[in-house]
Amino acid sequence: MEEILRVEKVVKKFGEFVALNNISLSIYDQKGVTAIIGPNGAGKTTLINVITGRLRPDAGKIFFEGRDITSLPPHKIVQLGIVRTFQVINLFSELTVYQNLNVANLSKPRTLRKDLHEVMELFGLDKYRDIEVAKLPHGIQRIVQIAVAFTLSPKLLLLDEPLAGLNIDEKTRIVNVVKDLAKNIPVVLIEHDLHVVFDISNRIVVMHRGEVIAEGTPDEVYRNPVVKEIYIGL
Ligand code: ADP
Ligand code: MG
Repeated sequence: MEEILRVEKVVKKFGEFVALNNISLSIYDQKGVTAIIGPNGAGKTTLINVITGRLRPDAGKIFFEGRDITSLPPHKIVQLGIVRTFQVINLFSELTVYQNLNVANLSKPRTLRKDLHEVMELFGLDKYRDIEVAKLPHGIQRIVQIAVAFTLSPKLLLLDEPLAGLNIDEKTRIVNVVKDLAKNIPVVLIEHDLHVVFDISNRIVVMHRGEVIAEGTPDEVYRNPVVKEIYIGL
């Protein structure tokens, strides 16, 4: 199994508060989903922010495909192929679905651009093509968000709570989208719903108070007594 991303002894502090406490973990270049779970405040979003260059770590290093990316700015990291979505939807809400995808597409060199009609078809967005994002249901906005990320040609896709605030039907739809994507691209999924996590993941990483406290197959994590204690202790 080839390592695509390596986080090595990363520390991130906010003032005196240690949000990431010497974290090391690897993501492998395998199809499928690696879920990151853990209670609120565990440091999951901070970890994504550090990986994607939005935050600088106070110590430690991050390698992508063997290359040190620790001090690269966010746009360079996207160009290398690490693409993330945000917990809070960050689309251009006054633009249409097509226009949002187009903004992402035009940010890439001409030869790497995607056929947006194919992208819209792939995500079932054709019928929403010319609708302003603000007018779409929350669940469809989430799909647009993922489609925008896909348009940026990710080699590694990081999804920060894409199911947050959705109803059951919308969740099912996004889960299917994520499963499809994960057939071709390694996906890291931050998610609270353990039913979804155990259904969708090949690998689970458990964070707690800025540390990785367990990782392994869903079976291994399920049987891990430390994980049980934290989840029952909640
Ligand atoms: P999670 O995504 O696992 O819920 P976060 O990574 O968002 O957790 O936050 C981890 C901890 O770091 C929380 O206690 C949060 O309040 C704190 N934190 C996150 N971002 C900042 C920031 N920009 N400034 C200060 N504290 C922060
Ligand atoms: Mg978070």
